[in-house]
Amino acid sequence: MAIRDNILLIREKIYAAAEKAGRDPKKVKLVAVSKHFPAEAIKEAMAADQFVFGENYIQELQSKREQLPTEAIFHFIGHLQSNKAKIAAETCQMIETVDSLKLARSLNNHLKTLGKTVDVLLQINIGNEPQKAGIKADDSEKILSQLHEFEKIRVCGLMAMPPLATTPDASRPYFRNLRKLSERLSAKQLFPKVAQPELSMGMSADYHIAIAEGATIIRVGSAIFGSRE
Ligand SMILES: *Cc1c(COP(=O)(O)O)cnc(C)c1O
Repeated sequence: MAIRDNILLIREKIYAAAEKAGRDPKKVKLVAVSKHFPAEAIKEAMAADQFVFGENYIQELQSKREQLPTEAIFHFIGHLQSNKAKIAAETCQMIETVDSLKLARSLNNHLKTLGKTVDVLLQINIGNEPQKAGIKADDSEKILSQLHEFEKIRVCGLMAMPPLATTPDASRPYFRNLRKLSERLSAKQLFPKVAQPELSMGMSADYHIAIAEGATIIRVGSAIFGSRE
């Protein structure tokens, strides 16, 4: 199917999943994950009024940024090393994968020089998987309280990638735990710069479950652009 048709279909599914959960479909933002696909594919998506894209690799992001109009907006969703923080700060509207104070400090320093502010999410290793990035849920309160000193980053909420699942429903408990964590942190005023914290969770296979569990940002790649093989 064409990229445009895929996007239209996903919009319908987002709408249906939100309605079913008694949520406002407008409160679910679709990030089209364009990693490994060329700028041309992004342009096709833009022709279908999709303007927010997710990228995992800094060089790939930089190259596409140069080829695209400013209407294209990027979320960084890959592992970000502190030495690449400057490029991410320059090119992205949101960095979803902040997972250390060191990275936050580096971002903040570059943002001061650039004279801009960037939205970030704290990445949580919600399944406690040793090979995965993200901070432990148990450490989130401490880290969030320390992020306050970085005036150029706006901590908007949490992001997570649950363990690889064989069925969409297997992700549900992880999505639910992320939502509950965000509610606890929010009750402790740990997201002082936003009215309502964002929850970035759910990908092509399970975004409908994530929406049922409260996702406000879903990151969908293959269901829009096709298989990355
Ligand atoms: C690749 C990727 C996605 C998209 O995955 P699909 O299964 O293709 O939808 C979402 N989030 C992150 C962090 C990714 O790396």
